[in-house]
Amino acid sequence: MSLSPTVIQSAYLVAAVLFILGLRNLSSPKTAVRGNQLAATGMLIAIVATLVNGAIVSYTVIIAGIVVGSLIGAVLAMRIEMTSMPEMVALLNGFGGAASAFVASAELLGAQETGAELAGIVPFAIAASVLIGSVTLTGSLVAFAKLKELVGGAAVTYPGQQFVNGALGIAVLGLAGMLMADTGNVTAFYGVVGISLLLGVLLVIPIGGADMPVVISLLNSYSGLAACATGFVLDNSTLVVSGSLVGASGLILTQIMCVAMNRSLGNVLFGAFGAASEEGAAAAAGGQDQGNVVSYTPEDAAVIFSNAQSVIVVPGYGMAVAQAQHAVRELTDTLAESGIDVKFAIHPVAGRMPGHMNVLLAEADVPYDRLVEMDEINPHFPETDVALVLGANDVVNPSAREEKGSPIYGMPILNVDLAEHVFVIKRSMNPGFAGIQNPLFFKDNTMMIFGDAKKVVISLAEAVRNY
Ligand code: NDP
Repeated sequence: MSLSPTVIQSAYLVAAVLFILGLRNLSSPKTAVRGNQLAATGMLIAIVATLVNGAIVSYTVIIAGIVVGSLIGAVLAMRIEMTSMPEMVALLNGFGGAASAFVASAELLGAQETGAELAGIVPFAIAASVLIGSVTLTGSLVAFAKLKELVGGAAVTYPGQQFVNGALGIAVLGLAGMLMADTGNVTAFYGVVGISLLLGVLLVIPIGGADMPVVISLLNSYSGLAACATGFVLDNSTLVVSGSLVGASGLILTQIMCVAMNRSLGNVLFGAFGAASEEGAAAAAGGQDQGNVVSYTPEDAAVIFSNAQSVIVVPGYGMAVAQAQHAVRELTDTLAESGIDVKFAIHPVAGRMPGHMNVLLAEADVPYDRLVEMDEINPHFPETDVALVLGANDVVNPSAREEKGSPIYGMPILNVDLAEHVFVIKRSMNPGFAGIQNPLFFKDNTMMIFGDAKKVVISLAEAVRNY
């Protein structure tokens, strides 16, 4: 079946509009499901239009690819834990980059075989796609291995590292230039592939595990740019548009995460933060001299909760690990029913991926109007009776505000320490993701409730009901 180019292009236009509307709707939890549906519909239209545009060589290979790929994707998506989502995204980015590089390489090698001339922007687009796609592939695999702890998460550094990376960067750009000048230059092609694959590894190893989510967001942007370049290779407008959208949104997300951690992108990429945080962890391990820690039972805490007029819950990574979101919804419903004002304070980098807390709380049907962003809620802590820190650590660490030498100094935090009473639920005195100790736990108004977040919250809810 083959449709006229006008129909195909119109379908691509509709798909592009749906992608943009989808992204727009994804910016609020209330409309996010609709956003996903709109973007998925756009993707379906784009795929169908591509399949019927008459340029398909073999439907058999495509159908086999769809069946095998969908099966693997569906099984992986169903089995993956929410807390491991960044690893999955890393793999998907890597495969996206690889797909773009493969398609561009096939166009180039096919033209070399048939002697067809590659004109206009195509040589540039091929070189860009192969280079960016290959860097994305190996960079994402290293990020995956670091997050999955298949290799150590610490930053790997050595003398002259930036010089080596810089030299390889110049070499690969030179070879890409040679490939553009002569698309029949096989040596330049394989040189670009080889050095780009190596660069992907070398650029990500000096970045510590703590910064991997930012790197993954950046690699997501790269995979979009590679797809966009491949769109020019294939003269496919919908691939150009969707690739640009992924490229731009990945870059914006990277920027948002850097701002939320008060770090520049350069500091994330070249600052070897993992090495610094290991020093911090060592300091934290020996840091017993910060004062006394007060430990409460859920029953003791229930007295203070029951007498409070306002409670702010601060969820963090530990809530996700313990899957405590349903239990905390029940606790906060109980508190709200007895007339207590309950809010959730959402830090932009709480958890392990952007929007992590919003997703979990939405899954537990916590009303959206109880969720308040960091800048909006921070002025309210001093007038709040109880701040309940639920498996959060770095995002409530006052060192970020007060200690100039701290690795997280300057990172915006939730000012829970300014509330009248602070309860912290976690299992031990272990530090959070940044590997540094938290002076909040030693403050006079802080009470620790040690234990798994879900179990403690269930006991606390029961104790509040019985009080
Ligand atoms: P943290 O990683 O700082 O702390 C989580 C705490 O949860 C730990 O101290 C741990 O203590 C506790 N915990 C773990 N499991 C459980 C459990 N089952 N029950 C109770 N407590 C538990 O988390 P935050 O959310 O405060 O901070 C997120 C960190 O991730 C920040 O450093 C941020 O910069 C970083 N990050 C986040 C990104 C994002 O997009 N969200 C991106 C990049 C980085 P214990 O072991 O004692 O229980």
